[in-house]
Amino acid sequence: METLESDLSELTPTIDIMNGISEDEVIERLAQSGIRVEYAELPRGMWGFYSLEWRLVTLRVGMPHMYRLPTLLHECGHVARMDNGHQCSKVEKAIDEDVALALINPADFKWAETHVGYHTGGIAHELEVPKWVVRAYRRVLLKQMQGAA
Ligand SMILES: [Zn+2]
Repeated sequence: METLESDLSELTPTIDIMNGISEDEVIERLAQSGIRVEYAELPRGMWGFYSLEWRLVTLRVGMPHMYRLPTLLHECGHVARMDNGHQCSKVEKAIDEDVALALINPADFKWAETHVGYHTGGIAHELEVPKWVVRAYRRVLLKQMQGAA
């Protein structure tokens, strides 16, 4: 096994291979790096958690199916950064944006927006992702627009 970081670089959603990856594949890759994934009761509002010390990703038990892969990818962002637990809002948002880029196809987003308008819940429903992924994707679009201006 190479260093943790080089193993996990493949898991960071900024890399294209995340497109179409399944929850099981992500869990398998984590396992190959010695990181376990468990489901447990978590405090209200918390969907997932990564413990660097325990090399353990904990996901909220019973979360809606649609939330599972995005949450798992979010925790992979923490794994790749070697974060221990929850980070500052800036880091959390940056990870969410990576997840959004990995999960949302630009053409699908445009299609959804054309059909349901600027409606976060509607777009989330169309794309089968949680609303936080849509919000994160919008932040990316905004940054791109600002960058291009
Ligand atoms: Zn987080």
